[in-house]
Amino acid sequence: MSQLGTETAFEVLAKAKALEAQGKSIIHLHIGAPDFRTPENIVDAGRKALKDGYHSYTPAKGIPELREAVCADIARYRKVEVHPDHVMIVPGGKPTMFFAIMMFGEPGTEILYPNPGFPIYESVIKYSGATAVPIELEEENGFSFSAEKVLAKINERTRLIILNTPANPTGGVVQRSELDALAKGLEEHPHVVVLADEIYSRLLYDGEEHVSFLEYEALRDRTILLDGWSKTYAMTGWRLGYGVWPESLIAHAERLQINTNSCTNAATQVAGVEALEGPQDAVDRMRQAFDERRAIIVEELNQIPGFRCTMPKGAFYAFPNTSGTGISSRELETRFLNDAGVASISGTSFGHLGEGYMRFSYANSAENIREGLRRVRECLQPA
Ligand code: PLP
Repeated sequence: MSQLGTETAFEVLAKAKALEAQGKSIIHLHIGAPDFRTPENIVDAGRKALKDGYHSYTPAKGIPELREAVCADIARYRKVEVHPDHVMIVPGGKPTMFFAIMMFGEPGTEILYPNPGFPIYESVIKYSGATAVPIELEEENGFSFSAEKVLAKINERTRLIILNTPANPTGGVVQRSELDALAKGLEEHPHVVVLADEIYSRLLYDGEEHVSFLEYEALRDRTILLDGWSKTYAMTGWRLGYGVWPESLIAHAERLQINTNSCTNAATQVAGVEALEGPQDAVDRMRQAFDERRAIIVEELNQIPGFRCTMPKGAFYAFPNTSGTGISSRELETRFLNDAGVASISGTSFGHLGEGYMRFSYANSAENIREGLRRVRECLQPA
């Protein structure tokens, strides 16, 4: 258990709530959840499912209608054909991640993961007993990676490579040329499996295209796709996600599901069908709102002395370089929360390479973003 890490966002949330309970005003710029309600048609579908009697277990891999809807969605947005037998519905994005890492990680093996990156990757890799080998994501590189450098880290102990584009916490997007080069290089390493976390694939800006790792035919038999409803449809609390598993792994994944969750909440799955097959205009509106706030947050962040922020291309996070303040990221997190009433997350919560950075989520109103960053600026002013 000592190897298992955590996701500090939940800790910051608890501290922020405690301060709010004391009557303090807190602006939440730490949350990795859309500030919108789930679109009404989806809520109605969930409510109707409960009325209609979806109260029991479903097949472990999920209801057939939803697995088929996932395949249609993948064909629509990723232009890739997937068979419903390979799809497993799970409670959120995290279970696919946990299952994949636990399936491949054991002492003596290595797993490559993005750093700074979603903290649960490193946490579960270590928990599995495997060695966590960072793929360094650099600001100069738009928080992407060089395929050549990633390939150079592979050896006979490497079991799994975790990719995340668009990325949390950086908003970085890996370009097609780099993914092409990585996929080509991986053909030489048939023992390595890829976990492609594409949970932010619908949150892209400036005309960026989403390149799915499922596009690489030659690697299809060892690519696991992770996606879900949390971010795209503002459904974080419903707990709904899916994995697309290769033929050789799907039965193992199903067994892990039976040993842990049994299945995913039945009514939630029905709501998930409506999300994928119903109108998508709410998704477009949310994306548009995030895009407008992205411009605001980056402009505001760049006006803070000691901060430097590049324009993120995806997700809903800004990841400014704060090294110019001369204050450690953890200390900034504490000061912003306690002194300025602004909840944000230290870059170090996303791996050691996050030192000198902070994550601010722009899943909040433009007004709150402006007020939050005004407070941050004020808090950094010399007394
Ligand atoms: N993957 C990434 C990159 C994320 O940022 C998150 C959530 O923040 C998840 C997976 C997990 O999503 P869920 O809340 O659906 O489990």
